[in-house]
Amino acid sequence: MWQNCTSMKITSSPTQPTTLTCPACGLLCDDVLLTTASPVAVKVACAKSVTFFEQTYSADNPSFGIPSVAGQTTDLNTAIKAATDILRKSNQPLFAGLGTEVQGMRSLMRLAEKTGATLDHMHSEGTVRNTLALQNSGWQTTTLTEVKNRADVILAIGTDIVSSHPRFFEKLVWNTESLFNKPVPEVIYLAAPLNASGENTQAGISPAGTQPMVIPAATEQLPEIINALNALANGKNLNIDNIAGVALSSLQTILEKLKAAQYAVVVWSASNLKFAHAELTVQSITQLIAKLNETNRVAGLPLNSGDGDTSVNNTSTWLSGYPTRNRFTNVKSGGKPEYDAYYFSTKQQLENCDALLWVSTFNAHQPPPDTGAPTIVIGHPNMQFTRAPDVFIPVGIPALDHTGTMFRLDSAVALPLKKLRDSNLPSLSQVTQKILDILSC
Ligand code: SF4
Repeated sequence: MWQNCTSMKITSSPTQPTTLTCPACGLLCDDVLLTTASPVAVKVACAKSVTFFEQTYSADNPSFGIPSVAGQTTDLNTAIKAATDILRKSNQPLFAGLGTEVQGMRSLMRLAEKTGATLDHMHSEGTVRNTLALQNSGWQTTTLTEVKNRADVILAIGTDIVSSHPRFFEKLVWNTESLFNKPVPEVIYLAAPLNASGENTQAGISPAGTQPMVIPAATEQLPEIINALNALANGKNLNIDNIAGVALSSLQTILEKLKAAQYAVVVWSASNLKFAHAELTVQSITQLIAKLNETNRVAGLPLNSGDGDTSVNNTSTWLSGYPTRNRFTNVKSGGKPEYDAYYFSTKQQLENCDALLWVSTFNAHQPPPDTGAPTIVIGHPNMQFTRAPDVFIPVGIPALDHTGTMFRLDSAVALPLKKLRDSNLPSLSQVTQKILDILSC
């Protein structure tokens, strides 16, 4: 099911089979194979990866890869000059989207420091739910390598995992090589959003055919359900039969399995927790993990959302001390970073900013939000707009048109991205550096 093979349009065929790092989700599988036979094919990859590596500039888009100013096509230097003019006049720019990898984010941080910009990644809503829980009470999380080598129970909360991270079970759960002799993991889905046919939990069926435990519930009911699990873990008696439609006996079974495990891993995807104060549910999950660790070994694994969010937030943190939703103030005296998880959100800043720089290099389908502020888009060459931005600068796609570096979702490993084809497009870093050079003149 997970092996896939397709032809791929690239301009320079490799002379030897090449292994690649796939940036299409936070697993960053580094075993994706590019063959040499014609037509060149992507193997050992999921459908999401094949779609990423197969993308070409669309012939249906007459202006693909061509910069524009006020909707009129132009040359790169004119577009860069126009973008610079917008940023020079701005007192409060917002850099949002931020769909890029490490080098791209480093260059954006330099530009933000120069211009006093606020920075916010397009998937921060999910990330902030985790950050708030981490800031408040800490957490015990694990790495993908530990999952692969040690996990014997996987509890997936509010996610089927494979919709966002397709090869998770293939690579980390049903793998036959692991450093230690561990049992085949048991899989439990709690409140995973089920698709119409329920197929999306089939990845949790073991190679020997053991079915996962599937406990259906609405995602919005997770606050009650996780709090009930916590109460049971703390030895409280609950004199009811069910919580939010989930039988109490099911929750007791989950708890027994977690307690019996040698190394249980609790997986959640904060971007799926789309209800008010979901950070408290994340905190409730981390408190459950902490409680169980008094007697057992249990670790958390928060999934990321994509578009380089883990790489961008790590880069931002080591350069400024904060993840995105940060801002540089006192620009004339070197730029002092500040952080505010609420006020520095894209939604809040769109009400106040006087220029928007939107970045999306992996994905053509992440257009900028509507705003009355002058808008610059530096992005995927296939981006198309219902309303043309003031400036559009198409740039290369990381892992296709230029090299780069990305962090895996567990932040434990950074992996190199290869350049696969010849491209006339500049990288985001090159464009940003040119803007910086002009601003510095
Ligand atoms: S699971 Fe993720 S990283 Fe791995 S090949 Fe698929 S999209 Fe790429």
